[in-house]
Amino acid sequence: MMTVNLSFWEKEAFFKAVDVLIIGSGIVGLNAAIAIKERKPRYKVIVLERGVLPIGASTRNAGFACFGSMTELLDDLSNQTADQVWALVEKRWRGLQRLRERLGDDPIQYRPWGGYELFRPEEKATYEACQDQMEHFNQALSSITGLARTFHNRDEDLTTFGFSGVEHLIHNQGEGQIHTGKMMAQLLALARDRGVEVYNGMEVAAVEEGGSGISVHLKNKWQLQADQVVVATNGFAAQLFPELAVKPARNQVLITRPIPGLKIKGTFHYDRGFFYFRNVNDRLLLGGGRCLDIVGEETDVFGFTSLIQNNLEELLKSVIAPDTPFVVDQWWSGIMGVGQQKVPILERLGPHLSVAVRLGGMGVAIGAQTGEEAAKLALDG
Ligand SMILES: Cc1cc2nc3c(=O)[nH]c(=O)nc-3n(C[C@H](O)[C@H](O)[C@H](O)COP(=O)(O)OP(=O)(O)OC[C@H]3O[C@@H](n4cnc5c(N)ncnc54)[C@H](O)[C@@H]3O)c2cc1C
Repeated sequence: MMTVNLSFWEKEAFFKAVDVLIIGSGIVGLNAAIAIKERKPRYKVIVLERGVLPIGASTRNAGFACFGSMTELLDDLSNQTADQVWALVEKRWRGLQRLRERLGDDPIQYRPWGGYELFRPEEKATYEACQDQMEHFNQALSSITGLARTFHNRDEDLTTFGFSGVEHLIHNQGEGQIHTGKMMAQLLALARDRGVEVYNGMEVAAVEEGGSGISVHLKNKWQLQADQVVVATNGFAAQLFPELAVKPARNQVLITRPIPGLKIKGTFHYDRGFFYFRNVNDRLLLGGGRCLDIVGEETDVFGFTSLIQNNLEELLKSVIAPDTPFVVDQWWSGIMGVGQQKVPILERLGPHLSVAVRLGGMGVAIGAQTGEEAAKLALDG
């Protein structure tokens, strides 16, 4: 860790008169920075990121452009009002459209291939509940997605995909997939193009509000001042603000080497959404399994466990690609920010301080909008 003091020149040229300082360069932090620059082009907006790249969830997710599977929505309806649930779905849907408008479908490799939910024989009751609600859900969704039938049964695709031990498939026409890395590279390029200054290797150790401004203390002992600070550190938020109701949730992910003739195409939710997989061109990406060790995975430390790795590999072998030889090419993990509620924490903690964290498992969908709302908080209070 470099602990050299900032020189007068460095302070003057890089860190003087900062209007808004954003902590975290994930999808939320970058969208907030872009939105601020669009409203206030002359503002000095800087983003501090502790990683060489944004290393949290935004560059490490599965790239599902999703807004809720049928079982997820059923589950949400059991603990929230219908109005709350459809409002959240609408927010996700609009967020996805916003992201696509901002960055363009080609640069982020958006593919409108739809998503599937898999049902095993032991999930008969849940599947039947989905059948009972399908028409109602489609009606409620038609004004959001513009699709007459967002959800429909597609058991006929089971043979094409070659799954084993799966009895039913429900297809979601509105779901898509993106190239996560390209989305973030585009977002960074857009932020820089708008005049946002992004500094990497800058880990914030503490934030301190004073009378007329706010001080940000870095791990390297630098101290910076700004008029407004926005905290966009998601699953790591409790490191700076332990009182926030957000917990880290690690997810482990694998990708196979290219599989010649791979038939699986689209995004897939398995076992109530605890596992997810998709094709990435002719590779398979599979992640999840937090349900196997909820307590152990409530961590903000990147890493792997043999319990989850073995389970994911076994799922590939026995259910997803039972007749297809594959080789795992790479593993990685990412850290989500979760809580009891599925909505982000978007609030002011003081006259100069706002937070926009707890994006849960659908940050691709709500990240752009959450960033824009964080910008509003910072500019308008
Ligand atoms: C494996 C995985 C799969 C997922 N799949 C999907 C999916 O398919 N679809 C979907 O919609 N969502 C998915 N998600 C969720 C989605 O990725 C997140 O909701 C979203 O990326 C959150 O964005 P963020 O900007 O809030 O947080 P992050 O991307 O985590 O950004 C926070 C940033 O803050 C930085 N930071 C933290 N502490 C400090 C500090 N003290 N100082 C400076 N910088 C700091 C971190 O390095 C990080 O770059 C997935 C998440 C994971 C982990």
